[in-house]
Amino acid sequence: MSIFIQNVFLRGKNTNVYAENNRITYIGGETRKADICIDGSNKAIFPTLVNGHTHAAMSLFRGYGDDMPLQEWLSQKIWPAEAKLTQEDVYWGTKLACLEMIKSGTTLFNDMYWHFHGTARAVEEMGLRAVVCSVFIDFFQESKASSQQKESETLYAESRQYSSRIQFGLGPHALYTVSGKSLSWIKEFAMDKNLLIHFHLSETQQEIEECLKAHNMLPVEYLDSLNFLCPLLVACHAVYVEDKELDILKNNKVSLVHNPTSNLKLGGGKIFRYPQIKDRNIPFCVGTDGCASNNNLSMLEAMKFAALLQKWAHRDTTLLSAQEIWETATEKAHRIFHVDAGKIEVGKLADFMLVDKKHILMIPDHNTISNLVYSASPGVIDTVVCDGKILMEKGKVDGEEEIIAKASEVAKRIAFSGTTL
Ligand SMILES: [Zn+2]
Repeated sequence: MSIFIQNVFLRGKNTNVYAENNRITYIGGETRKADICIDGSNKAIFPTLVNGHTHAAMSLFRGYGDDMPLQEWLSQKIWPAEAKLTQEDVYWGTKLACLEMIKSGTTLFNDMYWHFHGTARAVEEMGLRAVVCSVFIDFFQESKASSQQKESETLYAESRQYSSRIQFGLGPHALYTVSGKSLSWIKEFAMDKNLLIHFHLSETQQEIEECLKAHNMLPVEYLDSLNFLCPLLVACHAVYVEDKELDILKNNKVSLVHNPTSNLKLGGGKIFRYPQIKDRNIPFCVGTDGCASNNNLSMLEAMKFAALLQKWAHRDTTLLSAQEIWETATEKAHRIFHVDAGKIEVGKLADFMLVDKKHILMIPDHNTISNLVYSASPGVIDTVVCDGKILMEKGKVDGEEEIIAKASEVAKRIAFSGTTL
């Protein structure tokens, strides 16, 4: 399988890009024969985006109970609805999420949700990449902890049936839902099998207060005392972290995920400490979080929110430039998830998109990256390729009508059985 893209705009000039199997193998003036030829005129080629933190199937809860008090929303809307979800529901919810991600230029996401195989099957069929993490919650009960351990081991073994686009990850939910003993087990399992760990860290003030009360330590200090921190850990949110905690995260080579839209919508009260995190050179990327707290999965929007939030908070227009947030969401994010993509270069995986340079949101073209970060909507993305295969061409994804119909049906059933909208 080969793809030849002719006369496409790349780093300031027009050129040709050739991908064979799943790698970019040639960039230059020559014409190559290929299975698929794409006219790149008026298009720019860019690496695709990475969504660092999602609960993909929560696309089913888009707009379900917005603007309610946080605890009421969770206990009256989200948790009862989640309890009804079957693996098939999660499959359709994830398909809807994948469709939205492809349309907004994302081909890799880091997910944590129930019904592992529902998510993995959807990703496999839709052609993207994902770190699919099995949720681990024991509520501090021994019996639950051992059944969750068994489940993680089983799912890890079963995940081998999927292609290399799907990475198995461990998803201990958070400090307030997983015991210290289980966190230690997860770290050992992750180190043994070289698996990423996906974790919610210090998202709310309540978490900090509870941790101080229970352990007389800040969350990162407590995690450090458990020996849980390591380079395989990807910690999401981390908005309530003190300087000394950032030092510990840095020393243990932990990566972070900034979710600006979700933090704003859920009224978290603190923002990602970008200047301190950048000072320490702690790797981080950007995510959307689930659709219930965002309400979309557009990384174009997440990049803009991330950049604007820092400028506003620190009264500094130079902070987190378009170029920097772009590199964070592409090249640097791929590195965090151990995927050899994120740059249009010979040898890299063939994960890229073609952007319509004539779209109204891209005109004029003083700076294409600025346009993508501050102006673009998903509509500017024309073609998306992942692992050397075309997932979207001229804005169209195979089977999208069926996905929309099925996911709408599932969402309606869940919302109306038991609770009222
Ligand atoms: Zn989350």
